[in-house]
Amino acid sequence: MIELKENPTLADFQSYIKNIGIERGWNKNNHLEIFLLFMEEVGELAKAIRNEMGLYTEKAKHNRFEMEEEFADVFNYFIDLANIMNIDLEKAIRKKEEVNAKRVWI
Ligand SMILES: [Mg+2]
Repeated sequence: MIELKENPTLADFQSYIKNIGIERGWNKNNHLEIFLLFMEEVGELAKAIRNEMGLYTEKAKHNRFEMEEEFADVFNYFIDLANIMNIDLEKAIRKKEEVNAKRVWI
């Protein structure tokens, strides 16, 4: 059984998601299918946050676990999508941070 190590780095998360995808047979989706699943989870996260906050006409359900689960789902598909697109997230974040650091933020 594949386990996520304690205090994982981004590379550890990427490796973990790749390996559990192989183990559980989730690795047959192409990049478009993963993107659609990711967007579906973003929608579920939006609903969980809406429920937690009692926004609009719904009363707050205070189901923190549901919201935590949706954050995890979004994160997992985000990592999966990065993997299938061969993105090294740590490298990408560091490069983007270099760009952001030079920007003038008003
Ligand atoms: Mg979900």
